[in-house]
Amino acid sequence: MKRQSPESSATIKKQIHKRLQNRQSIRELYQQMAWKTLVKVGSQTKGLYEEYETIKVRGQVLRVGDSVLINSGDQHDEDYVGTLKQIISIKEPTTAKLICLCRIQWYMRKSEIIKSKPKCSEWISEQELFITNHQEYILAQSIISSCKILGCNEYQELDEIESTIYFNRLEWDVQKKQFGNMDSVQQFCFCFQPVNPDRQYIQCDSCKNWYHFECVGIKNGKYNQKEFHCSKCQ
Ligand SMILES: [Zn+2]
Ligand SMILES: [Zn+2]
Repeated sequence: MKRQSPESSATIKKQIHKRLQNRQSIRELYQQMAWKTLVKVGSQTKGLYEEYETIKVRGQVLRVGDSVLINSGDQHDEDYVGTLKQIISIKEPTTAKLICLCRIQWYMRKSEIIKSKPKCSEWISEQELFITNHQEYILAQSIISSCKILGCNEYQELDEIESTIYFNRLEWDVQKKQFGNMDSVQQFCFCFQPVNPDRQYIQCDSCKNWYHFECVGIKNGKYNQKEFHCSKCQ
């Protein structure tokens, strides 16, 4: 018969101790809302951690990959927007209740971007979102509903604009506070700006370039003549 070596019994003791420690810390981490550490500890403890492809929130089935609106608390007017990257549950060992967490890749809205780029306010649409390199865990219950994020061209082709339809064409680096792929965006008008679907444009019948109404002196949003020729082509 093999006798247990003193080392292995010490290892078992260590494991049991670690498990107990994990059980305690899951409760504490939950109270501290330290989600990232909670996921790390939970995934290291057998039987506490589970991943899912779908989740039901407020009667709506959401899948990994869906875009979602997230409750931003009382201090903010606008909901947060993100993409659902991962759905996880961690069992709280003392009560056996499930803590449901979602890993979210964040989008930024105009209101956030113009804090560091106020000049960009003219060309950024109210429905425009900027994909970030920032991911975070949130409580699943803070998700409000799914939403739609289209490409810029697709968005401009819509007949009707709904408040839960957004578009994305640019990346935003959260650390450097700058756009990631600005070169990929076409500039228009004499003012050389990316197109803003919220504003009115007119096309020159000669050069076929597009101009803001304001930049070519069209007032009250109305142009009654049949043809338009920009100042370069006149
Ligand atoms: Zn212009
Ligand atoms: Zn022209």
